[in-house]
Amino acid sequence: MPVQLLKIIKGESETPLPSHLQKEDLKCLQEGCDYTNKYFQGTVVLSYPLTKLRDGTDFFKVVLQDLNNSCSRINSINILIYGKMAEDCAKVIRHGDTFVVAGFKLAKSPTAREDGRHGCDLEVSEEAGSAIYIYTKRSTSAASETASVSVAPKYVYTPLNHLKDGTVVNLYGIVKFFKPPYVSKGTDYCSVVTLVDPSNAKLTCTLFSGNLDSLPKIYKIGDIVRFHRIKIREYNGQMQGITSGGFASLTFDGSVGAPVVPRTSSKLYTFLDEEQKTIEELRAWAASNLSISGPTAKLSGVQPMLFFDLTCQLVGKARVDGSSFLLKVWDGTKCPYPTWKVPVEARDLEGEKGLLQQLRNLTVDILVYDNHVQLAKSLKIGSFLRIYSIHTKQASADNQDVSHVEFHLHGGTCYGRGIGVLPESNPDVKELKAFLESVDLADSQNMESMSSVELDGIFSNVTDLQSHLQRCQQLSVTVLTDHQDLNNTGLKTILNSTAPQQYRIRAKLRTFKPQKLHQCIKLYCSKCNSLKEVPNGDDFDLILQDAAATAPNPELRNTSWYDSVMWTTQDQKQRKIAIHFVKHDEMLQEPEETLLMIEGGTLKEVWKLSRRFKCVIPVRSTEDDLELLDLSAPFLLQGSVKYYGCKQCSTPKTIKSLSSLAAEQRPSWEPTEIAQVLGIVPLQYVFIMKFTLVDGTGALNAYLFDYEKFFQIPASEILTNNFLQQKMQMTMNTLCPPGRKLDDLPWLECFIKSYNITDGMKHQVYYQIFDTTVAEDVV
Ligand SMILES: [Zn+2]
Repeated sequence: MPVQLLKIIKGESETPLPSHLQKEDLKCLQEGCDYTNKYFQGTVVLSYPLTKLRDGTDFFKVVLQDLNNSCSRINSINILIYGKMAEDCAKVIRHGDTFVVAGFKLAKSPTAREDGRHGCDLEVSEEAGSAIYIYTKRSTSAASETASVSVAPKYVYTPLNHLKDGTVVNLYGIVKFFKPPYVSKGTDYCSVVTLVDPSNAKLTCTLFSGNLDSLPKIYKIGDIVRFHRIKIREYNGQMQGITSGGFASLTFDGSVGAPVVPRTSSKLYTFLDEEQKTIEELRAWAASNLSISGPTAKLSGVQPMLFFDLTCQLVGKARVDGSSFLLKVWDGTKCPYPTWKVPVEARDLEGEKGLLQQLRNLTVDILVYDNHVQLAKSLKIGSFLRIYSIHTKQASADNQDVSHVEFHLHGGTCYGRGIGVLPESNPDVKELKAFLESVDLADSQNMESMSSVELDGIFSNVTDLQSHLQRCQQLSVTVLTDHQDLNNTGLKTILNSTAPQQYRIRAKLRTFKPQKLHQCIKLYCSKCNSLKEVPNGDDFDLILQDAAATAPNPELRNTSWYDSVMWTTQDQKQRKIAIHFVKHDEMLQEPEETLLMIEGGTLKEVWKLSRRFKCVIPVRSTEDDLELLDLSAPFLLQGSVKYYGCKQCSTPKTIKSLSSLAAEQRPSWEPTEIAQVLGIVPLQYVFIMKFTLVDGTGALNAYLFDYEKFFQIPASEILTNNFLQQKMQMTMNTLCPPGRKLDDLPWLECFIKSYNITDGMKHQVYYQIFDTTVAEDVV
């Protein structure tokens, strides 16, 4: 029998190979040589399904790897088996078997360039006098029992708890979190997927590809993926997956009972019957072990101040400006709130005019930003989309009493924010299509204004980010920016150690103070180490009123370094105002480059000017020069930021000192430089918070003292910027979600340093967070 199974007993073959056969190395195989009495031995790494050639001959292909040559670039070869041997081999062969081929022929391999294997294929058939010996660790009887399983490339799948650094593996996983593909730096698409499996281990994979189609087609949390050839590396004690050459993926619906149909752009893939079972097992496991219902909603169910995923159809689109793009979509239901309409030029709006008009009461405008714009532009009208993590924002326009809701897809990819295109075959799309067809369009026309009646009291300030927090829960929400050499230390050990020292910790934020975030912004003098409250607008207003009582001194008008305008208000107060525009090279500058000084202005006037001009310095006249106001008022305004000086440490000079800066080649008007020439020691805006951290070994209070680094938000700008305030609120909600049990809080990795404070007889150790940043993706 040309195909023989040889049993291995105690590491040796029970029956030796015929003695006339000589072993040949992979690297010595050449076309044209006689291999009648030679044999080649390798390990089965791949086998294809048994097929029939056109003439009816059975054909079976296996790939053997030469383990002795595993370091060389080419270490595998295709074995093509014809005729009865093909059938016999297919019955018994298993992945990993040692396979011996004797008396073969070599032929140039037509696929060598693609498959990277040996330049020749090894051809085997009974007619050519070949023989095959298969060493198996199984008993021969077991092999014949499995003889009916004649299947193709056998891959080994590694459970997520068995991953090792530096390996390339195949695996299955259930999607716990994902970011739909987005254009990353450069031209590649990037997608991030966090997988779990019944081993309860977790793996986050970062997948890059120049081809959008080759990234997994994940539509929702709970989908199941199969990855082939994903590279595993260890980082910070955790395994991560990244794309390697030859990466391939299949994605399956994760719902129990759904058809097992892989989503892939590849036409060439293998999927075996037994893998169907794997999918079904994973579905069943996920159904009982994971909570994977995403925050999907219909437009009829949206809530203000929430985030949701929407499955919808694209009806229109328009460019708004360079960083935002408008999508008009519908899902057949009506949003219960008045929704905003993004103003765009009619000629910029793409879409079928008649349909846009017909659906005008059912479509909503979604404004997408930054990294989502490019993808949004490429979307086809009529396509079905799932838009992830849309922010429903309640807003009221200045001139309207009625609030409306706005839909934003903010920039970034946090919480999996993004846009996915669903194929028509997607079950959700099928359902949506059927529903859209059933919508009675005549009905919706009459619904136009019903919703504004219900407005009062509907809007509540619920900031329910729960479902999103769940997605972020397992990942560390902070990033360490230095000192990678420090190892984690338990809080108890830290509490029992002497100060000063530096540590790295992994802990949860049990609580923090102050809870009202605007209270955590203070002004700090680095010279005298004092902290002050940020003055409110009323103090400033009083100081300005007080200063306006002194009329501008006409002799201080139009000097060599500034031009002045003066006027008297027409109202009863007859207020005298002077504005001095600082010149550069004898010329006035563009407003956005200009520093001006104002006398006699009101709070509102000062604010208005500071929006338009680069720097505004409120001043008053003395007999021989202009001078700064009381230091409880800002000495400088730039945009919305007010700069204050330390009363204790500053010795203000007259305004003439500024002329030295104005004379510079290109005055930058940096606040620190202005402060310096004016004799001001500037106060810096800082975040000061007390974090109570816990890690299971103990609890520790650590101070956060931060200008910008931790939150990635400048402390100087947050008080006047609603967006930044929202961002910070959301960050804190992520770090320390209200109403969550300790177990459910996210982990924070931080650096903290201890230091001693002695106050009289009292000696205490304090802790401060440093060199730690909230992860970019958290908000
Ligand atoms: Zn000071």
